[in-house]
Amino acid sequence: INGDLPAPNQDDIPAELLSQVEACLQPFQLSQSRLVDVSHWLRRDLSRGLGKHSHHRAAVKMLPTFVRATPDGTERGDFLALDLGGTNFRVLHVSVGHEEQRVVTMDSQICEVPQDIMLGTGEKLFDHLAQCMSAFLNSKPELQGKTLPLGFTFSFPCEQKEIDKSILIRWTKGFNCDGVEGRDVVQLLREAVLRIGEYDIGSIAMVNDTVGTMMSCGYRDQSCEIGMIIGTGTNACYMEEMRNVKRTEGEDGRMCINTEWGGFGDDGSLQSVLTEFDLVVDRESLNPGVHTFEKMISGMYLGEVVRLVLVRLTQEGLLFGGETSPDLLTQGHFETRYMSDIEQEDVGLAQAQVILTGLGLKAGPVDCRVVRLVCDAISTRSAQLCAAALATLAKRIRTNRGLQRLETTVGVDGTVYKKHPNFSQKLQAAVRVLAPKCHIKFLVSEDGSGKGAAMVTAVAQRLARQSRL
Ligand code: BGC
Ligand code: MG
Repeated sequence: INGDLPAPNQDDIPAELLSQVEACLQPFQLSQSRLVDVSHWLRRDLSRGLGKHSHHRAAVKMLPTFVRATPDGTERGDFLALDLGGTNFRVLHVSVGHEEQRVVTMDSQICEVPQDIMLGTGEKLFDHLAQCMSAFLNSKPELQGKTLPLGFTFSFPCEQKEIDKSILIRWTKGFNCDGVEGRDVVQLLREAVLRIGEYDIGSIAMVNDTVGTMMSCGYRDQSCEIGMIIGTGTNACYMEEMRNVKRTEGEDGRMCINTEWGGFGDDGSLQSVLTEFDLVVDRESLNPGVHTFEKMISGMYLGEVVRLVLVRLTQEGLLFGGETSPDLLTQGHFETRYMSDIEQEDVGLAQAQVILTGLGLKAGPVDCRVVRLVCDAISTRSAQLCAAALATLAKRIRTNRGLQRLETTVGVDGTVYKKHPNFSQKLQAAVRVLAPKCHIKFLVSEDGSGKGAAMVTAVAQRLARQSRL
């Protein structure tokens, strides 16, 4: 009776091995009802973070950004933008609206931030930023003597008192500089610029990268009211009704809230979905106990989760003939970008072979398939968790406005979303299931972190101009 079935491919994973590997990956599989739970837990945490008396202790910080409107397309002007948040620092000269509805980067400069600065003193960090700005300005005769308004994209959780007063709550991702937590980042920047004494800076608007992403997409698509990042870290912002922002004066209109959803779970609420591997990633990170959700999702950590699973499978004799390698045993040596390479549809297995060999492993065709299964399980979980969180935000906006159905756009950025072969499809499919009454369009941002800071400044100027009229 089996005569017509194709002979099993020799490279396929033998049934017994497959079931052992699946058993190990089982804790990463989240059922739809589990995802619904995650979405509900986050819904509760959003309200907590917004509450007047509960926000101090909230895991999801829900930070007011003092951005009260998205672009209407009439914004104009020239701006300087700064961008710090990944491994580089950038200075940009951005022009808004000189050509029809366009935000154009006229010029920019990248300065690397070496690891000793990322982990050094705050003073050194800000001196480095001020020097980089100085080098940029000196190379631009047309900017000399002008003080353009400045937008500063600073992609860490900050308690904003105003658009130009922004106190760092804590470092995340790869940064951990002394003497910055609890201080106003604007003041630290101004002090560093004064120390150099070569140029002046004018007004400053502080912007989270999610906000920059929403605002730059918002110039093209005015229904963009959510910004999401899935890169080195993960986070999202959205437009909330002022009446719900209990800790900021005022009842009318809206304000963009930086959710800092990376901190979801820091109070233990995600315990039942965490695997033993997640606990190890957290314990060995720069900031144990902090940003639980981010560590299950973002690029800084995904490769590390995969590595730990591969070590376990190897030690159980299920991979690489039971032999590990020094690279496989070293934290950070299985990079997140390998997952994107290995999960490619056609060339993935060949790339797996090259990557694993490069890590000193004896990888046969079956090993490559097993590794691909592991990568897929972990990137799928990441995409689904993001989807659950995004669904929560969309549903909240829909109920806020008493709508039967919400049509909205999400501006998205980040290497995981943009570079992984099927992350965005998985995320979108899961959101459709989890938020069926929300019709969400996804718009990939073109450098929201750079242009968005200029956009925030431009919108603030437009509002000021309109209120004078
Ligand atoms: C930070 C957020 C940021 C996100 C994406 C997180 O670690 O806390 O402020 O938006 O990374 O860059
Ligand atoms: Mg209020």
